[in-house]
Amino acid sequence: MPRTCTICNHPDRERIDQALVEGGAYRVIAKQYGVSAPATFRHKLNHLPKAMVRAHEAKQAASADNLLANVCSLQKRANRILRKAEKSEDHRIALSAIRELRNTVELLARLAGELQEGTTVNVLVSPEYQALRSKVIDALAPFPEARVAVAEALRE
Ligand SMILES: [Zn+2]
Repeated sequence: MPRTCTICNHPDRERIDQALVEGGAYRVIAKQYGVSAPATFRHKLNHLPKAMVRAHEAKQAASADNLLANVCSLQKRANRILRKAEKSEDHRIALSAIRELRNTVELLARLAGELQEGTTVNVLVSPEYQALRSKVIDALAPFPEARVAVAEALRE
C-alpha cells in the first residue's frame, strides 16, 4: 500500500519544494517545517516535480539574460565613445574606451563560463538557454578571438 507523503500534503508544500529546489539541506528544511527528515528526503527524490526544477532553471536563465542585456548596453556605449574618440583623434579617451570594452568582453566570457558550469541537460536544451547562448556569441562579434574561445567552451 503506498504511503501518503507528509510533504505532498503539507500546507507549505510549495515553500518546501522551493527550498529543496534551491539546494537547501533536506534535514534543515525538515526541521524548519516540522516534518520528518526521511519523508523530506523521499519526497525530494520521488515527488519533487521535475517541472519545478525546470522553472527554477528557466528563471536563472532569465536573470542571466538581464545581466547580459546590461553588459551589451555597456558595450555599445563604449563602442560609440571609441568611434568618436578615434574620429577626433583623442587617444586618451580612445584608450579608456578600449579598456571598458575589454572589461565587457571579460564579463561576457565569465557569463558564458558560468552558463557552462552551472547547467544541466535540461537547461542546455531549453530555448531560454539557446537564445542566451546565441546572444552571448553575437555580443562578442566585434571580438573574434574571444568569440571563438567562448563558442568553443560552450560547445564542449
Ligand atoms: Zn511527496
